[in-house]
Amino acid sequence: MKFNRTKIVATIGPASQSAEVLENMIDAGMNVCRINASHGSHEQQQLIIDTLRNLNAKKNVHTALLYDLQGPKLRIGDMRDGGVIIKEGDEIILTTNDCIGDEKRVFIKYASFVKDVKKHDTILVDDGKIELEAIQSNGIDEVVTKVKFGGMLSSRKGVNLPNTRITLPSLTEKDKADLEFALANNIDWIGLSFVRSAKDIEALKSIIKYKNSPMRVVAKIEKPEALKDLDNIISSADGVMVARGDLGVEIPMEQVPLIQKTILNKCIAKSKPVIIATQMMESMITSQRPTRAEVNDVANSVMDGADAVMLSAETSVGKDPANVVQSMWKIVHAVQNSASIYNRMQLPDKHSSAFVTESTIYNACQMVKQTDAKAIITMTHSGYSALKIASQRPEADIIVFTDNKTLLTQLNLVWGVRGFFYDKYENTDVNINDVKDIIKKEGIVKPGDCIIHVFSTPLHERGRSNTVKLNVID
Ligand code: PEP
Repeated sequence: MKFNRTKIVATIGPASQSAEVLENMIDAGMNVCRINASHGSHEQQQLIIDTLRNLNAKKNVHTALLYDLQGPKLRIGDMRDGGVIIKEGDEIILTTNDCIGDEKRVFIKYASFVKDVKKHDTILVDDGKIELEAIQSNGIDEVVTKVKFGGMLSSRKGVNLPNTRITLPSLTEKDKADLEFALANNIDWIGLSFVRSAKDIEALKSIIKYKNSPMRVVAKIEKPEALKDLDNIISSADGVMVARGDLGVEIPMEQVPLIQKTILNKCIAKSKPVIIATQMMESMITSQRPTRAEVNDVANSVMDGADAVMLSAETSVGKDPANVVQSMWKIVHAVQNSASIYNRMQLPDKHSSAFVTESTIYNACQMVKQTDAKAIITMTHSGYSALKIASQRPEADIIVFTDNKTLLTQLNLVWGVRGFFYDKYENTDVNINDVKDIIKKEGIVKPGDCIIHVFSTPLHERGRSNTVKLNVID
């Protein structure tokens, strides 16, 4: 199968957790399996992880695992009969005392709700389908609200408070238990939901570091506060997700497209993988084909240079997950030769401590352009060179050889990267010949193709890249 430079992340759920469907999704082009900690038990999630890892071993592929923590997501409680209709102009009390909700009173699972919500604050329920306005509070456990937009208020629907400063911690008790589970399972990437500032990322990272885990953190951008601290968040995180579902509820939805492009360009400039998420192929939850608008949405993200495009309900509960992945893969392929993606040629900073590596990589990527090289090859243990090469968006396959098995799966999220396990560190000549033979055997290059090697000399020091070699396949 032809390789997709923009990667495909697919959320796994009841429709896709069987070995058969997961295998079909891998064959269709899925690069990253996403588990949403908001759904399912640890036992169910464990089955997905084990099945995926067995498939990786069986098929010799490196499908990555992304595990999304729920974060401080607010929800209403259970409703009478599963849901009631509320009408514009009605008054409803939101209470922090557990109860079965009805047209008059609804439980909200958020202890400091009454303290945090101010008069006239907007309260959005069920992705903004229902809008309430806070009009009065008893200062203890109840807020009276007026219905601005009514509809069906169903059990456990999500709540967004776009104008309220929420005082909940970034990691809830549930998140802490889920994090333990993710750490125990050596998950590749962990997503932090509702990030508000870089401090949230730093707090999560310090736990991961304390546990001596190589797990990398994806900051989900879905809060207006996060946009104010965007540069620091991108610098602190290892990757970023434009979580357009909640973001489009928390800020006016018409602002999301430009914000998406801003985040994307900032991430590429900082060599941080960026995922565009939510409703990309939404109609395929029930339909065999995407809408033309969805095709354009995916295509534009690919042409903008996103590292990955993501599927949520389309693959977790949709009618044909492998077909959705295949449809997305076709779109990626149809547009991935677009000139807009390539040759970012980001000048290295002369004052950076990593100037030698960055300058080596910058010039290697210039050479790719000049020689029409088919592949740029590097050996890495930390992944640094691979991320730096990818951020230049060279018009060549980025072939990464590493002895670090976790890195192999982690890099499966990164634009353009194809990873191979390699643990021979004899001498540079042997390595260069070895990797050349491997990619020739894999059918990535053929006689007469130019390839560029980026490596570190002396080899035994296993330092950062400082050498470039141009080779022609014989
Ligand atoms: C989103 O809101 O776009 C999103 C990806 O979040 P969730 O984890 O709820 O799917």
